[in-house]
Amino acid sequence: MDRIRLQQLLARESAEAARRNPRSKDAYARADHLFGRVPMTWMNKTAAGAFPRYLDTARGARVTDIDGHEYIDFCLGDTGAMAGHSPEAVAEAVQHQFAERGGATAMLPTEDAEWVGAELTRRFGPTRWSFSLTATDANRWSIRLARAVTGRPKILVNSYSYHGSVDESLIVVGPDGHGTARPGNVGAPCDVTLTSRVAEFNDLAQLERELAHGDVAAVLMEPALTNIGIVLPEPGYLEGVRALTRRYGTLLINDETHTFSAGPGGCTAAWGLEPDVLTIGKAIGGGIPAGAYGLSAELAERLLDRDDLDLVDMGGVGGTLAGNALSVAAMRATLEHVLTDDAFDGMSKLSERFEAGVRAGIDTWSLPWSVSRLGARTEYRFADPAPRTGTESAAASDTELEDFLHLYLANRGILLTPFHNMALMCPATTEQDVDTHTEVFAAALAELVG
Ligand code: PMP
Repeated sequence: MDRIRLQQLLARESAEAARRNPRSKDAYARADHLFGRVPMTWMNKTAAGAFPRYLDTARGARVTDIDGHEYIDFCLGDTGAMAGHSPEAVAEAVQHQFAERGGATAMLPTEDAEWVGAELTRRFGPTRWSFSLTATDANRWSIRLARAVTGRPKILVNSYSYHGSVDESLIVVGPDGHGTARPGNVGAPCDVTLTSRVAEFNDLAQLERELAHGDVAAVLMEPALTNIGIVLPEPGYLEGVRALTRRYGTLLINDETHTFSAGPGGCTAAWGLEPDVLTIGKAIGGGIPAGAYGLSAELAERLLDRDDLDLVDMGGVGGTLAGNALSVAAMRATLEHVLTDDAFDGMSKLSERFEAGVRAGIDTWSLPWSVSRLGARTEYRFADPAPRTGTESAAASDTELEDFLHLYLANRGILLTPFHNMALMCPATTEQDVDTHTEVFAAALAELVG
């Protein structure tokens, strides 16, 4: 890779973004009352455009910005909009619940909740569900329950996994092979090794070494890593994780928030996995904040039988708005009408097409890159063969290169997720959308390495 050429192209695309998006640039310059000028600090992950494009409208697989440009959206809110933006069935259900029936925060259950619980059981397996508004909270509450029920203090995660802003999960394998704070961790409450253990994904020996201490309440993991590129499990790995967690009396929590892309019941159903707890968030609300965790009936009984645990009031599990009528209505509409079993077939086929397009581009220039797919989600990484652990994948990151590709695509009407090179299909994505990406991606590579 000619780095000088890359830097020149990045500077050119950066200038082009400023030329194309003067209103967004101006809005950002005026946002003096926002921390970091944005409503949420991660919105500053703008590639080297130096300002975010401001949202005007979004529908299905399309987003428009306030400068009047339309984008094919493969970012889809980093999975929050995997159902497409404001899908009709969800819009109607939300409108009906909020405007006609009212009561988004009445602190009373609605009958939709049992429907959603039953549907999540049909899809994922666990039989007792509780709701949150974010995947982070579903994870946070699950690990509290896991500590309570096992009486053990620690949680184990995979190095360079991401499970939301969960204190216990911000740990990586350090150069000496042992756990250390994830670089950049903001204001940790204590040394993370007091609360957590860590193992590389696809490394059963390391997992066993850590579990053998006998102090791990739960392994919290994604069946495939999705937040450091996609790192797929090697044959036998997930079976090994289940066998080891059972052997050492540790619960297994599958976080399906992103791996839901693998099918209607995520990787858990697609690969016949048997977690003790399953967590999910983002997409299941079709764009309305919603999350959930599911427990086995046996685990639920053990927790409910404990007089010393305050599950009703201030015990640390739950939130005032969690399970509210609006959020639950949105989950029902999303699962019943939008992210249906049939929808996943179509999304997966489109993702295969996307993957083939990326692979063709990589092959044309014999680039040492790899592309991985998990159902409706495709991602390329600057390493070949594809990394097999989070640490390997982290080492393959190249911010300048990533920024160039993101900006090049955005300036031509295509959005990838701002973090790494992820493209997701929704029910409204079309073959033409995918082919447009293939063409623009090929053009970007031709300029870069041609
Ligand atoms: N789990 C996984 C696997 C995720 O990727 C994320 C966010 N990217 C979360 C949990 C947290 O989701 P949220 O920020 O919506 O709480």
